[in-house]
Amino acid sequence: MSEQVTGGFRKRTSKAGVVVVPRPETFAKATWLPAIARGLGVTMRHFFTNVTSQKDIATVQYPEETVAYPHRYRGLHRLMLRDDGSVRCVACMCCPTVCPAHCITIVAEETGNANEKRPAIFEIDELRCVVCGLCVEACPCDAIRMDTGIHASPSEKRFTAVLGKNDLMSRGSLSIATQGGRGDYRDPEKTP
Ligand code: SF4
Ligand code: SF4
Repeated sequence: MSEQVTGGFRKRTSKAGVVVVPRPETFAKATWLPAIARGLGVTMRHFFTNVTSQKDIATVQYPEETVAYPHRYRGLHRLMLRDDGSVRCVACMCCPTVCPAHCITIVAEETGNANEKRPAIFEIDELRCVVCGLCVEACPCDAIRMDTGIHASPSEKRFTAVLGKNDLMSRGSLSIATQGGRGDYRDPEKTP
């Protein structure tokens, strides 16, 4: 059997390779009291440092405090508006088609204009949304954006997380894009 002293402990190894760890030789090592006192000392030092000065605390007291979001932060959706305040969306169904979470529901209706429709119902379930931004990328007419910088609110009831057309339009604004372009794609004679 060989014997080795490491950190005040004697470690014996038998010929068969079994490590025999004998009982600690001192009261301090047996009870771990000095080590516990050292650990508590570190805890108390941090406690009093953080009570008297909060400069090293990285935690943000949300929602009273918030950090500045990155320029391209994806917040709650919004539906953009035309000059007359109506919705820009033409119910083309590109966004619900591309959405990987299947959380966009659109029911289209006629507008009286043979070239485009509009959404009678436009809903987004923010609890199912994975905030990928693909709906914004897919939209051909800048009708949906995620540039609000607003968090999805906590919901106590499941249905309150489903935003409707009016919710989405209430955050909308005019787009710099031209709605619909010029001419009529059905009639090349009228297309400049
Ligand atoms: S951000 Fe992604 S998951 Fe959310 S509604 Fe748009 S496409 Fe769907
Ligand atoms: S992709 Fe744009 S225009 Fe098409 S349904 Fe979605 S929001 Fe409306």
